[in-house]
Amino acid sequence: MFVRRPGRHATAPPVLTGSHIDSQPFGGAYDGAYGVLAGFEVLEALDDAGVETERPVELAIWTNEEGSRFQPTTMGSAVFVGELGLPEAMAAIDAQGRVLRDELEALVAAVPDAIHRDLAFPMHAFLEAHIEQGPILEAEGKSIGLVRAIQGLRWFTLVVRGRAGHAGTTPPSARQDALVGAVNAIDALNQLAAAEGDRVRLTVGRLEVHPNSPNTIPGEVLFTVDLRHPGEDALEKLGGLIGETVRKAAAPCDVEVHETLRSPPTLLDDSLRGLVRSITEGLGLSYLEMDSGATHDAKNLALHTPTGMVFVPCRDGVSHVQEEYASVEWMLAGTRVLAGAVTELAA
Ligand SMILES: [Zn+2]
Repeated sequence: MFVRRPGRHATAPPVLTGSHIDSQPFGGAYDGAYGVLAGFEVLEALDDAGVETERPVELAIWTNEEGSRFQPTTMGSAVFVGELGLPEAMAAIDAQGRVLRDELEALVAAVPDAIHRDLAFPMHAFLEAHIEQGPILEAEGKSIGLVRAIQGLRWFTLVVRGRAGHAGTTPPSARQDALVGAVNAIDALNQLAAAEGDRVRLTVGRLEVHPNSPNTIPGEVLFTVDLRHPGEDALEKLGGLIGETVRKAAAPCDVEVHETLRSPPTLLDDSLRGLVRSITEGLGLSYLEMDSGATHDAKNLALHTPTGMVFVPCRDGVSHVQEEYASVEWMLAGTRVLAGAVTELAA
């Protein structure tokens, strides 16, 4: 959904800001919604101040960012920029068997005055305000996060194969315990990540033990690796070391490695970040240049137009839960930066 504030030149590519208003099943009130309300506030502030911009300014509300009801995530922005086909997205079905196409048609029917826009219409820039969803800004006592990159992601599924056997009768020398192999491998993977510094995120979040019986030596263990980094080179290198690291640590067990997902890091626009930085400095606000640990619609928009993100702190770095919280002071600081940057871009 786009809310447009006209500029002097109706045909000039507009400046866009915005985020999403869908949430997680037990999500908080700030993830996404903050960026949308901040965008509305910018439009209102421009009205209140009687500012006439050259370019139109538009607030975008991207459909189904979280992917908690319909998959995949960041669906609306992915369709908009052409990363995902419209028919494919429209066919998505939720847990109740409802189809996205029908749900969207009902929404559109409820707003009969709304006019259809073209996908991938040209724009001048996109700037998204969002809560950080991590602990860094609050811990560092900074008001604003200037996002350099949205980190890339690689998913792996690993299968460690040993030999199942009787827990009481099999002596140590005759064992090939797949769980011992997997535990050693997970430890080795964490050491590999730790040696690369604090920009790496490596998580083993799923472990399936077969046959998963107290008195049988595990014969096979499946585990997943979620690897993230804002740099493509590091992601390439670390991902490439996973198989070798696990094989070495899990020996003498056999190891199978499958890469199941790869999404490259997204570098946001340097000159847009420079503009936001100078607005932030002009307002006397403290800031930090940082990377985004979470994925956002900005990742898709960056394929289409110069794109930036403004982060504000959130308490204890907690997000996707009801306890999610950002103070009015934090949100106001981010909104002032957003207003300044949008006004400058549209001037
Ligand atoms: Zn979000």
